[in-house]
Amino acid sequence: MLKWLVLSATVLIGLIVIVQLYWLTKVYSFEQKQFNNNVVKSLRAVFEDLEMNDNPNQPLQQLIHNPADDYYLFKADTIPEQDSLTFYIRKEFSDFDVLTDVKLGAFSSSSRKYVYEDYIPTTASGFHVTPALGLPVYSQDYDHILLYFPHRSQYILGEMNFWIISSVALFLALIGLAISLFYFYRQKFLAEVQKDFVNNFTHEFKTPLAVIRIASDVLAQNDITEKPDRLKRYSSIIQNQTTHLQNQVEKLLKSASAENKKFPIDKESVKPARLIEQALNKLQPLIEQKKARVDLKVDDYEMNIQADEGHLELAIINILENALKYSNAPHIIVETGKEESDYFISVKDNGIGIEKKYIKDIFKKFYRVPTGNVHDVKGFGLGLNFVKRIVDGHDGRIRVKSLPGIGTEFRLLLPF
Ligand code: ADP
Repeated sequence: MLKWLVLSATVLIGLIVIVQLYWLTKVYSFEQKQFNNNVVKSLRAVFEDLEMNDNPNQPLQQLIHNPADDYYLFKADTIPEQDSLTFYIRKEFSDFDVLTDVKLGAFSSSSRKYVYEDYIPTTASGFHVTPALGLPVYSQDYDHILLYFPHRSQYILGEMNFWIISSVALFLALIGLAISLFYFYRQKFLAEVQKDFVNNFTHEFKTPLAVIRIASDVLAQNDITEKPDRLKRYSSIIQNQTTHLQNQVEKLLKSASAENKKFPIDKESVKPARLIEQALNKLQPLIEQKKARVDLKVDDYEMNIQADEGHLELAIINILENALKYSNAPHIIVETGKEESDYFISVKDNGIGIEKKYIKDIFKKFYRVPTGNVHDVKGFGLGLNFVKRIVDGHDGRIRVKSLPGIGTEFRLLLPF
């Protein structure tokens, strides 16, 4: 729902930007036309002022050409004096609002060159006078006056000031809107994550506490000393549950303190096969509870690698724990060996598997594959995030292969 809202707002913002850009180009071409009209009107007036044309009935379109955007060329039967041409052009341009610099030249077809050139700056234009460049020759066949507007585009843009400023303001407002939208979305997302976390937290701690409570009630019975079997069983339950709780608290504390930082990795020579055995020992209660079968295929028990013992063991525990948690009748195969320049530790299970689309997310902090409303397997979504950070700290990689309903393989690859 929220996603759609954000998506449609983004599309809307995109549309507004496109429409605004469309209007800007429209206004630009309108201003271009306006400029052209004003120039033609001024030139018509100059023609009349100076009586440059012997045949007043000849339509103006035939006399005025626009060989390039910045150039206007007009046929003259008689070339006027430089002073009067300059004077009238200045006058008519100012009457018809052509307020930009112009360079002019009078071309004589008999001498095949410009007989004079002049530059008329406008104070209003605010541009520096460009040094006189030679004017190009567009036609040698007849006498004409050539006008060149060196700052035409800037002038037209200047006329659009209002539009440009209002568009910039609009774009800024839209950017602001987009940013607030982004933060709003993120805030909402974080709130969801937090809610999930609190739910998981309650789940995760309630059960062991309830079990401890019941076990300690049993131990508080008066005749308990007469039943040493019971005493032993219930105290071991309490022990197991406390260890479990301790592990969870450790995980949470670690995740809070190592927030986004790299895990501190202290490498030493370790025997990974031994770490795997230790990890399996620690998980023995869970293995028994799930009646799991674990096959260990170690290629070389004496093999050493450089790794952080404590952290690597934690990574292995997390992967094994998941394999047990997410399988109904777990059959787990743990394998080690060499793969090219890496040492690999692989944990294969026959559990529920992970759909392909979720695999890229499972290493994110607090991420859990959505299972609808039923969360029969508890967890914080922290385990794999740890594993990833630990493996990253060893410059290693993790490969995941999974088929929903068939099982999953996690393969840690650590460089030698
Ligand atoms: P959690 O505490 O939820 O187990 P993890 O970070 O360990 O958190 O795992 C993230 C998610 O990846 C789990 O919620 C689960 O959906 C999925 N997952 C991890 N390992 C397995 C596995 N072996 N089989 C199926 N799903 C798994």
